[in-house]
Amino acid sequence: MPDIPTICCYCGCGCGLYLHVENGRVIGASPSRNHPISRNNLCVKGWHAHEFIHNPERLTRPLIRHNGRLRPASWDEALDLVAEKFNEIKTTFGPDQMGVLSSAKCTNEENYLLQKFTRAVLGTNNIDHCARL
Ligand code: SF4
Repeated sequence: MPDIPTICCYCGCGCGLYLHVENGRVIGASPSRNHPISRNNLCVKGWHAHEFIHNPERLTRPLIRHNGRLRPASWDEALDLVAEKFNEIKTTFGPDQMGVLSSAKCTNEENYLLQKFTRAVLGTNNIDHCARL
């Protein structure tokens, strides 16, 4: 299989890299020579960006804590529970009792959506970003 061009997911720099695939498994990563950001360079995180893909401990579905134990749940069930708890907090304590921290690992579009969600849905301006922490 040919190398797969993609973007490193570890920070907001957005370095370009290639994922190397063998027998259906990602086995390595290397920098994109012509990428305008990384220009044939990656930091140590980028070189190892692929290693979580097949890690058996990787979380691949939501977990809900029930009676002190985590159990697998569907996305619908998990998101319904989150919405219920957000509503409970908002109704009981007010929207400004909630705050959201966004991440440089998200794309600009995801960060935009998160601030929109925080302001328009949660009803608070308590939104910040890890780059300011
Ligand atoms: S290679 Fe390093 S600097 Fe580039 S996006 Fe990944 S984490 Fe950020």
